[in-house]
Amino acid sequence: MAKTVYIAGLGLIGASMALGIKRDHPDYEILGYNRSQASRDIALKEGMIDRATDDFASFAPLADIIILSLPIKQTIAFIKELANLDLKEGVIISDAGSTKSAIVDVAEQYLVGKAIRFVGAHPMAGSHKTGAASADVNLFENACYIFTPSSLTSQDTLEEMKALLSGLHARFIEIDAKEHDRVTSQISHFPHILASSLMEQTAVYAQEHEMARRFAAGGFRDMTRIAESEPGMWTSILLSNRETILDRIEDFKERLDEIGQAISKGDEEQIWNFFNQAREQRQAMEIHKRGGVDSSYDLYVDVPDEENVILRILELLRGTSLVNIHINEENREDIHGILQISFKNAQDLERAEHLITENTDYTVVIK
Ligand code: NAD
Repeated sequence: MAKTVYIAGLGLIGASMALGIKRDHPDYEILGYNRSQASRDIALKEGMIDRATDDFASFAPLADIIILSLPIKQTIAFIKELANLDLKEGVIISDAGSTKSAIVDVAEQYLVGKAIRFVGAHPMAGSHKTGAASADVNLFENACYIFTPSSLTSQDTLEEMKALLSGLHARFIEIDAKEHDRVTSQISHFPHILASSLMEQTAVYAQEHEMARRFAAGGFRDMTRIAESEPGMWTSILLSNRETILDRIEDFKERLDEIGQAISKGDEEQIWNFFNQAREQRQAMEIHKRGGVDSSYDLYVDVPDEENVILRILELLRGTSLVNIHINEENREDIHGILQISFKNAQDLERAEHLITENTDYTVVIK
């Protein structure tokens, strides 16, 4: 039976979800709320949604499923508002916030005792882009879409959400909200703090040591890439996961002190172990195998060391969305060719293989 879905917040995440839902459920009616007219207009014009409003409460009673895709503070405010509205019996409310405990706690407090189902969610995909203009139907492909079930979540809630979101092609995962916040504090929130601290430290240092700007190269770039993230979103993430993040900061200070002491003592063995352990740990980590996408979507091209070769291949792939391109500096036995191109899905990979083999003499290998 066709459903009515209400997406509040037609930003990058909300509008991309609308596209993903439409892909598998073209018969569902999608209603959209957005504060600014620009994203409402784009979402309507591009057919992402069927109807739009700037009055959040007006569409809520019409929906079978409501997804709040707003900043965390606004998500919390709307959950409180929903508690006082006359909603459809058995409505599902979900969200997209990057931290979960604060949102789930408010939902549990305000929605309990009503004919409302709730499940917190965090689609772990995104970018620095914002607004409906940046929407991408493939944004969530192969990404973890995390659900944080609580007492207002029944098994059928999760089944209905997964069926609704099938067109996102994401990987659904369930985890407790507090554990979600602990894990993301370590692998996402704290690294953002570190990247920004390192960037600020370097900027101040460079005032007196001008060459610091010029010498900064690959390692520094990799360490600080995420310092370019959107400040508003990261402020709200830190403020809604305070204790857990403070705990990570304290833990890290101790680690810095420890390596500082080893350096001051000149303890060669300890310093070597410090680097070696981290190297082994990183090599064993999943990130090494996947780099955000499945390694099976990688293609290797054996290219000659000639001018414009890479440009020629990229020209052939115009219109195919690739997620990464890497030139292997040395030809190792286990990596064929030197140009490695990563794709988001198997179709793009196949298309690229076909295009390159049809139009060039280069050997293409897929592992
Ligand atoms: P966005 O800036 O693209 O969109 C945010 C939306 O919220 C916009 O529609 C904006 O109009 C609306 N909004 C902002 N303040 C509002 C207010 N006070 N009242 C009413 N509406 C308001 O951001 P996004 O990336 O789509 O993020 C939405 C949610 O998804 C956030 O909770 C974010 O933490 C979460 N999230 C973001 C990412 C990412 O990388 N972008 C990844 C996962 C989860």
